[in-house]
Amino acid sequence: MNECIEPDLISKAYPTSEDYQITYKSSEASGIYMIYASPIKDENNRSIGCIRVGIQLANQSFVDNIKGITGSDATIFSGNKRFVTTIRRDGIYQTGTPMNTKVQEAILQKGLNYTGKMDILGEPYIVSYLPIFDSEGFPIGAFFVGKSITELHVFRIKLIGYISVLGILLLVIFYSISKRWVVKNISDPVYWVSNSMKEITEEDYHNFDHMPKPRSTELETLQSSMKIMVNSILDEKKKLKTVAYVDHLTGLPNRAALYHKYKDISMSRNKHTLSVIYYLDLDNLKYINHLFGQAVVDDLLHQVAMLLSEYIKTYQDHQIYRIAGDEFIICKEGGYSHEELANTSKNILALFEKNFIVEQYSISMTASIGVSYTSYCQGAQCDICEADCKDTLETLFKKAEAAINQVKATGKNNFILFDPIMNEQIQKKALMQQELKAALQNDELLLFYQPKYNIKKDCYDGFEALIRWKHPERGFVSPLEFISVAEESNLINEIGAWVLENACMFIKEFNQRYQKDFNVAVNVSVIQLFSDSFEETVCNALEKSQLDPIYLELEITESVFANSMDIVNEKLNFFREKNITIALDDFGTGYSSLTYLKTLPITTLKLDKTFVDDIAMNDVSLTIVESVIQIGKSTGLKIVVEGVETVEQLRILSSLQCDYIQGYYFSKPISVDCVHTLFKKAAVN
Ligand code: C2E
Ligand code: CA
Ligand code: CA
Repeated sequence: MNECIEPDLISKAYPTSEDYQITYKSSEASGIYMIYASPIKDENNRSIGCIRVGIQLANQSFVDNIKGITGSDATIFSGNKRFVTTIRRDGIYQTGTPMNTKVQEAILQKGLNYTGKMDILGEPYIVSYLPIFDSEGFPIGAFFVGKSITELHVFRIKLIGYISVLGILLLVIFYSISKRWVVKNISDPVYWVSNSMKEITEEDYHNFDHMPKPRSTELETLQSSMKIMVNSILDEKKKLKTVAYVDHLTGLPNRAALYHKYKDISMSRNKHTLSVIYYLDLDNLKYINHLFGQAVVDDLLHQVAMLLSEYIKTYQDHQIYRIAGDEFIICKEGGYSHEELANTSKNILALFEKNFIVEQYSISMTASIGVSYTSYCQGAQCDICEADCKDTLETLFKKAEAAINQVKATGKNNFILFDPIMNEQIQKKALMQQELKAALQNDELLLFYQPKYNIKKDCYDGFEALIRWKHPERGFVSPLEFISVAEESNLINEIGAWVLENACMFIKEFNQRYQKDFNVAVNVSVIQLFSDSFEETVCNALEKSQLDPIYLELEITESVFANSMDIVNEKLNFFREKNITIALDDFGTGYSSLTYLKTLPITTLKLDKTFVDDIAMNDVSLTIVESVIQIGKSTGLKIVVEGVETVEQLRILSSLQCDYIQGYYFSKPISVDCVHTLFKKAAVN
């Protein structure tokens, strides 16, 4: 802006401030200017030029800046024309396009602001116009700021889009963070809890050593109550284990503990495990029980347990167990010599030389010991110990049992070491068990009947059913041989049921055929009597044969008294109520407590053959038989004397006023056919 700037003129000029003029100019290239023009005069007040100074009010970069800052379009109007603007159509700045006519009036004529909504160059806008005034206060243009509604709309959509994306992004972030938190703080502990529950059911409690740190009070409560639960389970288990594995009377480990320790262990393959079993049985304890009562026996058993425990303390690798009422097992682990086994057995027996003091009683007691041992051959089969190579707890037990049985058979109060010959007996027994099973199926069992004689009436009036086994190769096998085998394998229940059924049918038919009132006595094993189904078996036999129960007598032995007297009483009363009679067999051979005769519903006493055998020579036997007959007379018990073989015995018994006799003198046990022959003959006679 340098019009008329002549250096010498300037030096002559008198600038005055009165005639100045302010104008505004605009050009597309340079923007809008406010121009100050003041004339330069000489000393004669002649105008010799003028000074113009321009200030740029706005240019394109200015409006662009506004757009950059506010995001709105901006325009500077010079008059009613767009001078500089950010509004573009088809890529061209809309410089020179006119101001909306409606606005012109307000802005340019009235100098008012304008704000509103309107179309700008065919596009809806929210607009705001500010008039630009010259020095005189006339509006010479306007400043426009506006926002395209379309753009706003697009922006809004974009904004919604951005917000949505941002929201989703935040959600994803939140989800992954919260998932991690949930996994760490809730899922993992809950999973641990459920996992622990599973492990508890599998009896694995190790998890509780690594319990995760709880992160919420609920989980903390859950974990701690679980811990309490597990601890109480463990406590209970411990208690159960104690109950299961400890004998409460003596405090010694019991049979279950012994089996728990050694079951499934091959003895011969492990030199350091069980090698010796001392099987100790107290002699005649059941008689002590009958004499002094259960409380004394319990005390006695406790003393024996203490004595034995104290004794084995001096030996290494010995452990004592109480496996049944009066049976103890002393186990030894590791090496041994036969001499050592014998010495230990002798020492144990010596412990019983002293009397035991219980309450006011001084009781003498003895024991029998069967010793079994395993042989070491490093597990390899060898000629010497072929059988021992396969030793298990079970086989060691069987061997010790075979040894103790021999001690008992030879007078008790002794010990015997297992001898391989005894193996034969074990095998023989096992074979007999199998054969007996087959015998039941193959009809090899039959019943013989031994008649009972009534001296007073001078005639037979009953039978005892006695089982026979007709072995296909060995011929008749004695019941004395196979009944005990049947008892050991529980086959006795099946055999017993068969005997009852056949004996009932026999006597029913016999009485019908011969018009008699004979009864039949059936021998009942103690195992049979104590079986839960025995009562049912007897009732079934009666029902099947339609026999009146008064014709059935059950013969039990004194061995039943070694069991619970309550159960014996209950069972016998059941039969008595049905009018079945009960005979006590082999009376006099064991300890026969007269109290039992008073309390139990016994109807018949069968005096054992041993008293009759020497009745003619032995005064003691004679006195016993005489007293028993007297007891019978005074108590109403029927007395049957067994094993009468000679006329002399019969004469003595008759003089003692014995009523019933059973023995070879009258008849041996005979087959059913022979019974018929005998009675047909008797009928003819
Ligand atoms: P037990 O009940 O004492 O039967 C009497 C045994 O003495 C019978 O032997 C009989 O044949 C025998 N006997 C009878 N009178 C005389 C005699 O005058 N002299 C001699 N020397 N012996 C005589 P058996 O038949 O060999 O039976 C032996 C044992 O087997 C029976 O003794 C009984 O305890 C048992 N038994 C027999 N049959 C059965 C049964 O069906 N069930 C059960 N559980 N045991 C039975
Ligand atoms: Ca009998
Ligand atoms: Ca008998």
